[in-house]
Amino acid sequence: MLYPYNFIGTIRRMTKNRIFLIPNLLALLLAACQSVPATADPDIIMTAAIETAFAQISIPTEAPEPTETPVPTATIPRTPPALPGTYQTSILKANDIPRTYTADTCQYLQNKWNPNNAAPGTVVMTIMIHRIDKDAAMSDFGNLTIASKDLKQLMNDLHDAGFQAINMQKMADFMYTNAKIPELSVLLIVDDRAGSSSKYNDHFRIYFEKWGWPVINAYIGIDERPDLWAEHAVLSAEGWVDFQAHGYIHNIPISEGSTDEFIMSEMGGVISTFQKYFNKTPIAYIWPGGGFSKRAVEIGTELGYKLGFTVNSRGPVMYNWIPQADAYNDDNPYAIPEIPAGNPVMTIPRYTDITARDHIDEVRTIGQEAAQYAEQSKAIELEYYDIICAPTYGPIPSTP
Ligand SMILES: [Zn+2]
Repeated sequence: MLYPYNFIGTIRRMTKNRIFLIPNLLALLLAACQSVPATADPDIIMTAAIETAFAQISIPTEAPEPTETPVPTATIPRTPPALPGTYQTSILKANDIPRTYTADTCQYLQNKWNPNNAAPGTVVMTIMIHRIDKDAAMSDFGNLTIASKDLKQLMNDLHDAGFQAINMQKMADFMYTNAKIPELSVLLIVDDRAGSSSKYNDHFRIYFEKWGWPVINAYIGIDERPDLWAEHAVLSAEGWVDFQAHGYIHNIPISEGSTDEFIMSEMGGVISTFQKYFNKTPIAYIWPGGGFSKRAVEIGTELGYKLGFTVNSRGPVMYNWIPQADAYNDDNPYAIPEIPAGNPVMTIPRYTDITARDHIDEVRTIGQEAAQYAEQSKAIELEYYDIICAPTYGPIPSTP
């Protein structure tokens, strides 16, 4: 790929010894630069520029009203390096391939290397929780029921491993702009509302009190018992149960065959009840039954949802890095492939509570490997940014 030489036009006002830019002259200069062949000898250009500058400077100051003349100076042309590819890992299954979703490379690099943002390698493990059985001796995977003692073990193991829980707004800010979150973050999403708020008081309040951990309640819109909403609104107001949308009727999953009307009633209907009873607009949609479609992803985005979550257990996520599958495959036979839906942030994978403990170490390793890979890529990415991005995006911000 050829890049035209990049001239920096400086206009020197001779009489006042001040430097300023005149936009239309600058534009002319830049336009002129486009025609300079990429094979021109930079030394010749530089020499010509210096001679011109010298000639201008030599104009005697007593000359009558010298006209303002642009003095072009040539920068030494720099070829941008090829950017390294996205971090890949053999820790995940072969068909669960990490995808980028940020189209704007310059903005991505700026967000990545802004020292005020999350450090490269910051990773989020999203965990799906369903029923919790207080008394069961064992968890029951087939019935999506985790024994209370296993949930406690999971929470303690996450904490011991250095994880901290985040809420949905932090997750969205991280996924969109690489906003700072703990380097090991966990997003706990409890599906299906629960009849009463006791589930949260009994099983999760303790972690809020001990560690400040929030939990997401994926709430179903259809049940309009005002007292039930009021009960949950108390937890919402306390700030540690974060309510997000889990369908309106919920029991019919969205599929490729779903009509726009049904998608709207599901995804839009639950927004209406949230606004009515919680005075809150959800930013995440947890797909009921794990069902989604390309059209639903589009409509959900139009409705204002920033993130969507599947039931596909593919791996953790990082900024601009979400493992997804192109098609149905034997690695994960029941998982609906996300790539055809066309928007990775609307189809974020989740681990299942009962088996999540088995993946804690691999999530940590992925974060560490990604951090190392980023460190190796840093000089090249910053050079690229300096050449291609900095002129329009400005320098990478420094620490405040
Ligand atoms: Zn559900």
